[in-house]
Amino acid sequence: MGKPTGFKEFDRKKVEWRLPIVRLEDFGEIYTEPNEEHLRTQGARCMDCGVPFCQSATGCPIDNLIPEWNDLVYHGRWHDALERLHKTNNFPEFTGRVCPAPCEGACVLGITNPPVTIKNIENAIIDRGFKEGWVKANPPQSRTGKKIAIIGSGPAGLAAADQLNKVGHTVTVYERADRIGGLLTYGIPNMKLDKGVVQRRLDLMAAEGVTFVTKADVGKTVDPKKLMADNDAVLLSTGATKPRDLPIPGRQLKGIHFAMEFLTANTASLLDSKHADGKFISAKGKRVVVIGGGDTGCDCIGTSLRHGCSQLVNFELLDKPPESRAEDNPWPQWPRVFRSDYGHEEAELKFGKDAREYCILSKEFVDDGKGNVTGIKTVRVRWIKKDGKMTMEEVAGSEEIIGADLVLLAMGFLGPEHYVSELLGIEVDPRSNYKAEHGKFSTSIPGVFAAGDCRRGQSLVVWAINEGRGAARSIDLYLRGSSTLPAPGITMGSALLSTSSR
Ligand SMILES: Cc1cc2nc3c(=O)[nH]c(=O)nc-3n(C[C@H](O)[C@H](O)[C@H](O)COP(=O)(O)OP(=O)(O)OC[C@H]3O[C@@H](n4cnc5c(N)ncnc54)[C@H](O)[C@@H]3O)c2cc1C
Ligand code: SF4
Repeated sequence: MGKPTGFKEFDRKKVEWRLPIVRLEDFGEIYTEPNEEHLRTQGARCMDCGVPFCQSATGCPIDNLIPEWNDLVYHGRWHDALERLHKTNNFPEFTGRVCPAPCEGACVLGITNPPVTIKNIENAIIDRGFKEGWVKANPPQSRTGKKIAIIGSGPAGLAAADQLNKVGHTVTVYERADRIGGLLTYGIPNMKLDKGVVQRRLDLMAAEGVTFVTKADVGKTVDPKKLMADNDAVLLSTGATKPRDLPIPGRQLKGIHFAMEFLTANTASLLDSKHADGKFISAKGKRVVVIGGGDTGCDCIGTSLRHGCSQLVNFELLDKPPESRAEDNPWPQWPRVFRSDYGHEEAELKFGKDAREYCILSKEFVDDGKGNVTGIKTVRVRWIKKDGKMTMEEVAGSEEIIGADLVLLAMGFLGPEHYVSELLGIEVDPRSNYKAEHGKFSTSIPGVFAAGDCRRGQSLVVWAINEGRGAARSIDLYLRGSSTLPAPGITMGSALLSTSSR
């Protein structure tokens, strides 16, 4: 423990984001560079409590050794901190930027005071590591001769590839998109995770011997049975890519899109041509309605604002969360409380009020007479407890039409697409995910494994890393009978977080 009295002396202070008025002008990352003194002070707040809930139980899904690196940062031992961090996390530069930090929800200091800024410290350690040139390609000394095909290049597939390559297996990652990274590349926008940061890690993995194949749509342009025949094991990490639709009258009108159509095209055009090719759905001058909250909704808000939308409303069917923990949501569970993310902050600055409207139900999309959407018929709802269950009731007389030229549907995802699993004859579970037990990750077909959102349903980057690491160990065990790869634990509380709307 760095400073025994640190938690009494210093207040929590997060690393600042760039000011909304400045960052709205570009698609650059929202973060600022923290200074060393600030980070040491924040590290000093860690109490090194006897049972670090932050790294176990309901905290970090990959068991990051948080109190250890907090202490090392406090003592200025950055290189050692980096070593400890890489023991449990293949990609701290991703989680340090985008993780909602269930660890902070479980921090023991959080019982009485604001928790330690764990995520900021994690990010600073890895950014410092790259800056100092400490993060280098480290290819395995020898190869086992075993070949593994990984289908899908999101964080689950990448974590598995990294682990399997480290122990000497020959890994090829197949991705149907034109770039590697899954939602790290084409979901989470550049302002939250710069694509140069993703590419930097991919370059390292390629230098260590992982092969990446893009535009390889397994089940369509690549035969999965051939992949099985040519490899010793196959991992499915295809994500939960089926979006939840809103099948109300008028859904066919022009101007209504799934959030992912909007976000993917925006990032592709940004990376290909800095938007010069015009191959994206522009929100410029439009009245935008984003239906659904969560990270996806917020990313649609942030992107629409940067395009220059003229109006922005974000519909949320549920009630506004409380300002502090409710009685049925005690520490160390993930706190289900009201939060404002970067997009919400920016919308408030631009339009003078929070863009979020709670307890609002969309009934019908309104046609402008030419087949374009021009508004949404809505009604307010109230949530009441009936027989112990929350039930929704429409509020009579609250019907309203809200103008909209662009509607973005951000209501979560229903599970993986099934064209690969059907060709391979893989069983799915009642939620339509690929059936495989956490910890084993083996599907109903021997030699075929599944990890990440395609197995657990829509979730988080940190859970995808947990599953990729776990699947790598299971594959190694399957191929060699024993494994030196670690098995990430199963934390409990963040499961609450992973089922929330994305
Ligand atoms: C807009 C958005 C914002 C998010 N923001 C955050 C956030 O801030 N923090 C956070 O922790 N989580 C966030 N998430 C969730 C997080 O991104 C996912 O939980 C995580 O990426 C899942 O990883 P994965 O590897 O399982 O799948 P994915 O990242 O979805 O990757 C799956 C990949 O498989 C590919 N694929 C699918 N089928 C095939 C096939 N047949 N052949 C070849 N390739 C195929 C897909 O093209 C895709 O690239 C967000 C999600 C979305 C949609
Ligand atoms: S990965 Fe997420 S939960 Fe784990 S230490 Fe980092 S911010 Fe916390």
